[in-house]
Amino acid sequence: MALFSRSRRRDALSPEVLTALMRTWLPAMARLQPDERERLVELTDVLVAGLRWEAANGFEVTDDMRVAVSAHAALLVLGFDDGLDSYLSVTSVIIHPSTIEIHGTRSVGGGMLTDTADSVIGEAHHRGPILVSWDAAASQARNPQWGENVLLHEFAHRLDMLDGVSDGTPPLADADQLRAWVGACTPALQRVRDGESTVLRPYAATNPTEFFAVATEVFFTQATRLREHEPALYRVLRDYYRQDPAGR
Ligand SMILES: [Zn+2]
Repeated sequence: MALFSRSRRRDALSPEVLTALMRTWLPAMARLQPDERERLVELTDVLVAGLRWEAANGFEVTDDMRVAVSAHAALLVLGFDDGLDSYLSVTSVIIHPSTIEIHGTRSVGGGMLTDTADSVIGEAHHRGPILVSWDAAASQARNPQWGENVLLHEFAHRLDMLDGVSDGTPPLADADQLRAWVGACTPALQRVRDGESTVLRPYAATNPTEFFAVATEVFFTQATRLREHEPALYRVLRDYYRQDPAGR
């Protein structure tokens, strides 16, 4: 948090404006306990002021965008001690108006590389920037019932990368937690691959990394459905995030 607070802007938002924007862009805020809400506002405020914001060519970053992105990033780490440290290696957040064209050579798994253009709504780079498409982020943020949220998705990738590898398993407390994690995630991923999942979208079958990011989206937006359909997965995510959104 120290690094973030050092770069605070002088034109920080007033608490009233910040809270009003958070309520607009994070409907889940209404269900938080007062102490959780207070902490979320605090963390969001630090991220709004401390993250480096950039816009794609010809586009401009607004307070709505800064608050929407920061509030979701803050929600993920609300249960962690010093949670914002998770984001110290985020060099910038780059906001695009719409889908992002990705060019250049990149790995597509299985030792294959591709250099064709691709359209995405978000990307998280290891020790680099996070890219998001504002039209996707905004419509998903306002419609949590869709169970999709590119902001939660990309910041979840950053949590996954904290141990140096992007493999669907973020740093866990101990061997017991890791055992429970693997025991819950492996069969749940297989159910998506078999087309049998009733709550996780098919993109989760891409690989364990995407599985974790997609499961995180559902954990925070459709918590009661996830708890009902994938109780073991819900439990390991609850223990990892140290939050119980279905109980709110
Ligand atoms: Zn992803």
